Amino acid sequence: MNIPRTESPRVVIVGGGFAGMSLARILLKEDLQVVILDRHNYHTFQPLLYQVSTSGLEPDSIAYPLRKITRNSKKAIFRLAEVNSINAEANSISTSIGDLAYDYLVIATGSKTNFFGNKSIEEHGMWMKTVPQALNIRSLILENLEQAVITDDPEKRKALLNFVLVGAGPTGVELSGAIAELRNHIVPKDYPDIDPTEMHIHLLEGLDRVLPPMSENASKKAHRFLKELGVHIHLNTMVESYDGHLVTTNTDLQLKTETFIWSAGVTGAPVQGLNASALVEKANRYEVNVFNQVNGYENVFAIGDIALMQTKEYPKGHPMVAQPAIQQGKHLAKNLKRLIKGAQLEAFEYRDKGTMATIGRNRAVVDMGKMKFSGFTAWFVWMFVHLWFLIGFRNRLVTFFNWVYNYINFDKAARLIIRPFKGYERNMKIDKEEI
Ligand SMILES: Cc1cc2nc3c(=O)[nH]c(=O)nc-3n(C[C@H](O)[C@H](O)[C@H](O)COP(=O)(O)OP(=O)(O)OC[C@H]3O[C@@H](n4cnc5c(N)ncnc54)[C@H](O)[C@@H]3O)c2cc1C
Repeated sequence: MNIPRTESPRVVIVGGGFAGMSLARILLKEDLQVVILDRHNYHTFQPLLYQVSTSGLEPDSIAYPLRKITRNSKKAIFRLAEVNSINAEANSISTSIGDLAYDYLVIATGSKTNFFGNKSIEEHGMWMKTVPQALNIRSLILENLEQAVITDDPEKRKALLNFVLVGAGPTGVELSGAIAELRNHIVPKDYPDIDPTEMHIHLLEGLDRVLPPMSENASKKAHRFLKELGVHIHLNTMVESYDGHLVTTNTDLQLKTETFIWSAGVTGAPVQGLNASALVEKANRYEVNVFNQVNGYENVFAIGDIALMQTKEYPKGHPMVAQPAIQQGKHLAKNLKRLIKGAQLEAFEYRDKGTMATIGRNRAVVDMGKMKFSGFTAWFVWMFVHLWFLIGFRNRLVTFFNWVYNYINFDKAARLIIRPFKGYERNMKIDKEEI
């Protein structure tokens, strides 16, 4: 791996997501050897992935090179590697580029899509956790529109113009809103051969309201906004299967579609090797104490989505969103400094800063403690918060410029099929997973 041994303690961080980055940025200033390992050489700002998949932003606006984090510190090291297993007895990990010993190990591997064991969805559906997956969705949407223009089979055309999204959490709501805007503003200009009323966006949700993690008020408003945009909402509807062409559900609803996007849940993405008691099996997340120490280990920590910290206020663990990951990363940095100095560790306390989702231009919902608002103000707050948390000045500037441009022109500039997903009839199916 070409990592020298130094006098300083070595902290190995697996994952350069929100949690790993927040931790690393503080530790880099300390007298420690910080090694960041990630299977991508960039950090992904996942909350804006949906804009990449719907042609609103290019991926380089929401990704940030991890080497840009380590380059300002002589003792920080980045390696592009998949971490395969942990050998806690030997204080070492095994990766795609070799083994590495650690003094302190921090697991910040986040989560992965949960298919709840449904093989047909996993095989035929699309999902979105990474930049390549968002680009696949973008290509598929645009390729299906191109194919709809040329097909002379009315049933096939209908299926190509039917877009089915499953799971009305923030991702499903934001994606369906963005596809509806594509239909309302881009299709009439770019595709004169398609009548926009032929294009249908269906959002399916197993529970009885959209945005179930948010307040009733936010759900009602989001429901109304989606309806205004022309999204068909099917509540209390569970998908049973998708064979690549037909969606079947637990109700009478059946939909023919060539675009099926699954955003109905996530589960932890643990690394093999720790004792079974470290993992909460149902959630696939590591059980951690209030110092983020993994159950049964003193020098192994977990932060972010992968960590399940049960507290009185959060008996099922913190929500799997960016804020707990950022706050745990920052808090662990302070605790690691304390640990190395032999000082007492301090318990983590989560400060809920609120939840928000956008449904399209001028439409968003925000829950901030007792304050709940929606519409233009919420949309403005949503934009400001996302720009604020986006990593890198250039990314903020480019994203801001794109949003202003898109807003003024009712445009989505990134509608490019750079890497075809289907290859039309040539059947050049590209792997949906990472490349
Ligand atoms: C589409 C989408 C939209 C979202 N929208 C919002 C939102 O609006 N607001 C919000 O608060 N949250 C949102 N979230 C959730 C939020 O992004 C996550 O809660 C947050 O990213 C968790 O941070 P993390 O650091 O724990 O994990 P991640 O940010 O997922 O980072 C994990 C990192 O670990 C790396 N990794 C994983 N396994 C390995 C391995 N074995 N070897 C090497 N590297 C590995 C990954 O490549 C990744 O870089 C969204 C998530 C998604 C997918």
